[in-house]
Amino acid sequence: MTQIQLPLSGPYTLINARLHASLTPSLSAPADADGFILADISVTDACIVGIAPSGHQPTPDAIDLAGRIVLPCFVDCHTHIDKGHIWPRKPNPDGSFLGALNATGEDRVARWNADDVSRRMDFSLRSAYAHGTSALRTHIDSVPPQEEISWPVFEAMRERWRGRIELQGVCLFGIEGARDAKWFAGLAKRVAAAGGVLGTVTYMVPDLEQLLDRVFVTAIEHGLDLDFHADETDSISAISLKRIAETALRHRFEGKILVGHCCSLARQPDADVLDTLDKVARAGIAVVSLPMCNLYLQDRRQDGTTPRWRGVTLLHEMRARGIPAAVASDNTRDPFYAYGDLDMLEVYRMATRILHFDHPVGDWPKTVTSTPADIMRLHGAGILAPGGPADFIVFKGRNWTEVLSRPESDRIVVRGGRAIARDLPDYSELDDLMVE
Ligand SMILES: [Zn+2]
Repeated sequence: MTQIQLPLSGPYTLINARLHASLTPSLSAPADADGFILADISVTDACIVGIAPSGHQPTPDAIDLAGRIVLPCFVDCHTHIDKGHIWPRKPNPDGSFLGALNATGEDRVARWNADDVSRRMDFSLRSAYAHGTSALRTHIDSVPPQEEISWPVFEAMRERWRGRIELQGVCLFGIEGARDAKWFAGLAKRVAAAGGVLGTVTYMVPDLEQLLDRVFVTAIEHGLDLDFHADETDSISAISLKRIAETALRHRFEGKILVGHCCSLARQPDADVLDTLDKVARAGIAVVSLPMCNLYLQDRRQDGTTPRWRGVTLLHEMRARGIPAAVASDNTRDPFYAYGDLDMLEVYRMATRILHFDHPVGDWPKTVTSTPADIMRLHGAGILAPGGPADFIVFKGRNWTEVLSRPESDRIVVRGGRAIARDLPDYSELDDLMVE
C-alpha cells in the first residue's frame, strides 16, 4: 500500500475511506457486518464539508485511501495525568490496590510540587495528542495540601493545550474527606472557579448516604457535574454505585454523572445487579470501565495463584438498558498501572479482548469517541459530520481485524484538516524527576 500524503494547504477529498456507521450519523448507506461504510470525506479549511458514500467520479483533489479506516479523534474521559510516569521512582511493591494507594500517597507528599506535576502532565498530554486524542478528562488528587498545588497547574496546562487537547479536571479524594464540611465547601468552590467537575472516591463507610447527600447538594449549589470512582474491588458488599443512583434520584439531579470502575457489580447476584442497573438507568448515570487498570489490579493474588476474573464491570448489561458506557485509559506508568501511554487505540483493542466488543462490533466504537464526548459536554467531538472539525485518524488497517491486530504506530492523526507531527516524548526527558 502506498504512503498517504495529505496536502499542507487547500481543500481536499479523501476517497474510499472506511467509516463506522455509529460515528457518522449523516451517512446513510448499507454497512458491512462490522458496521463500516465506504465513503468520501471533503475537507475545506479546518472543517469537514461533506461526507458521501464512495462510488461517484473522483475529483482532481482526491486522495485515495483504498479502504483504510478513518475514525474521529479519541475522547479519553478518565485519566490521572497528575500521577502519570512516577513508576521509576515509586513502583507498586506487590501490584495490589493497597500497594498502589500507599505508594502514590507517599510519592505525592514527598515529590508533587508544581514543577513535578506540570512536567509529568505535559509529557502525558504530548503522548495522548500524538496517539490521536482530542479531549481528555483527568482526576486531580485533591487531598490537602495537594489541591492548592495541582489545580493552578491544571489551569495553566489547560491554557497551554487549548486547541490541541480539550482538558477537563475532576477533584479526587476519599468520600470520608467530605465529613469536614468546611474543607469540602472550599474545595467545591475552587473546583467551580476552575470550571471543573466534582469528584470523589466512594466506598462503604457507615455514613455513605449522608456524605453522598452532601456531595449532591454541593454540586447542585455550584451547578457542577459529578464524577465518581466507585466499587473498585471484588467485595460483593461494595454497592456504592447503587447508593449514588439512589441519591441522584432523591435529589432529582439534572447535571451529568459519570461513575468509573464499578468492578464489584460483576461479582454480585443477578437480582441485586438488575436492581442497581435499573436505578442507574433511571438516574441517567453514565459508566466508564477502565479495563487495563482493572485487569492489572483486580484479583491480584499474593499466594502465587493465578487471577480468575477480568475485573471489568457489566458493560453489555448496561448497554442493554441504554446506560451510556465508555472505556478509558485510567492510570499510566504509576503504582495503579505499571504500563500505558494514553493511547486510546490500545484501550479499545484491550477492551475488545477483555469485554468482548466484537461479534457483533455494534456501536462499541462509541465508547472511545461520541459517548465520552457527550459525557464531557463536548459538542461536535467524537463523530465525523459535515460542518464539524476535520479532526480524525487515518489508520493503515482496512477492517477491524487489521486495525486491532497491530499497534498502528504509523497512523495519521489529522487535526484541523492537517496531519500533525506525531512525536512521542522521550522517557529520558523525565529522568531528572526520577532520582532520589
Ligand atoms: Zn481512576
